[in-house]
Amino acid sequence: MAEVAIIGGSGLYSILEGATEEEVDTKYGRPSGPIAVGKVGGIEVAFLNRHGKAHTLPPHKVPYIANIEALASLGVKWIITSNAVGSLDIGYKPGDMVLFDQFVNMTHGRRDTFFDGPEVVHTSVSDPYCSTLSDIAARKADELGYNCHKRGTVVVVNGPRFSSKAESAMFIRQGFQTINMTAYPEVVLAREKKIHFLGVGLVTDYDNGVHLPHEAEPVTFDEVKRIFDMNVEKVKRLILETIPEIKAQTLSCVCEK
Ligand SMILES: [Zn+2]
Repeated sequence: MAEVAIIGGSGLYSILEGATEEEVDTKYGRPSGPIAVGKVGGIEVAFLNRHGKAHTLPPHKVPYIANIEALASLGVKWIITSNAVGSLDIGYKPGDMVLFDQFVNMTHGRRDTFFDGPEVVHTSVSDPYCSTLSDIAARKADELGYNCHKRGTVVVVNGPRFSSKAESAMFIRQGFQTINMTAYPEVVLAREKKIHFLGVGLVTDYDNGVHLPHEAEPVTFDEVKRIFDMNVEKVKRLILETIPEIKAQTLSCVCEK
């Protein structure tokens, strides 16, 4: 049993103390990998590596629905995720963090609902991210002195390819701040399960750089990885500081309604 879960990359695994791993199966298939359960600040926390233990699952092959089902079956009520994001807004710089408040879904072929019939449910995701969790994380980021944007829209593309310059330019014109390949559909599946969901983005690059005043090299996976690894301790620290506060809060947000 764990009420709090983290979904992210292997860099975050060490956040857990005394972790043991559990293989979980669901009616939607197996999640990305075993679920590790350990302690963070004395609180039981589950951790799931989104891309699998050996990083073998590309963004379009991540079993998002099995992942959320598996965590829900463990009793998880709060999920904190971390994502590497490209910046579409020059105010969002590599190394900055962002707490998503909105998404735009440009993915396809990913199952994004538990209500596939015969039961018909229309879930509101007008505010898809948990404002209570966001407020806690925003406060902690300030206390830690991090450059953290308290709001930001993430446009989620299917991948695994990066965007063309024309696609980047379109997203920038639309006014989106960040771009990523895995931030959807985790958030909406969690909402269907009435799970509070926080999305923490770590800016790693400027995508194609078409909005920069100077010529820029288009993003590469190696660069994303290099900047993420350089900053993963900050993400870890923010999550570490946020988790103990969750228990202290009486959460009453739209997520549960
Ligand atoms: Zn909430």
